[in-house]
Amino acid sequence: MKNSKFILFGPPGSGKGTFSSQIKKVLPNIIHISTGDIFRENLKNETPLGNKAKSYMDKGKLVPDEVVIEMVQDRLNKADVKENGYILDGFPRTLPQAKALSEISDPDLLLLLEVDRDIIKKRILGRYSCKECGALYNKYTLPPKQEGICDKCGAEIKFEQRSDDNEETLKNRLDTYEKNAKPLIKYYKKKKLLKRVNAENTLAFSEEDIKDILEI
Ligand code: AMP
Repeated sequence: MKNSKFILFGPPGSGKGTFSSQIKKVLPNIIHISTGDIFRENLKNETPLGNKAKSYMDKGKLVPDEVVIEMVQDRLNKADVKENGYILDGFPRTLPQAKALSEISDPDLLLLLEVDRDIIKKRILGRYSCKECGALYNKYTLPPKQEGICDKCGAEIKFEQRSDDNEETLKNRLDTYEKNAKPLIKYYKKKKLLKRVNAENTLAFSEEDIKDILEI
């Protein structure tokens, strides 16, 4: 059977969201699960889960394992995921999360997105989205074609930045990533599931490149 269960792993700003969209071009039915997006949605709707996660997210800290694991387990057990496979974006972030995942649904491959730290800073501190439709932009690397107008929906762009995309929180997020990444990388290397991807310009990948990377 072909690979259909992927983990995207990499520091904040390594382009996990962008790369997920590219994977969806070759595997349109695969389910993209971003734990950060799920938390942000819950935060916005002020759900109990959102309230639990808020104080951690505001500081750039990880939400406790048991909270994240339960949330991911619920999602992975749904029929659409079982049928079409998944891209996990932002999970697992710690060794206990990785071990819990292997109990729930063993992944086929972990793609480690590698990007230079200076590029990451630019990507994160420059990123913003259109308040109307959510299209993503970057003031350094991906401005809209016409200044101030959204390419996707044509609205005048009201600048919206993620509340955790600031210099202080970013330092915490990068430090947290580095601390947790080593044991996770070791764990997946041992399982022979680790694959390194140079992610400085994933937008240049062709569909063939992506199929090669996914080994499908
Ligand atoms: P992200 O969008 O992936 O950068 O996630 C934003 C924030 O959500 C993180 O800084 C954490 O506070 C929280 N978060 C997302 N995924 C996880 C996870 N797997 N484990 C713990 N916290 C997470």
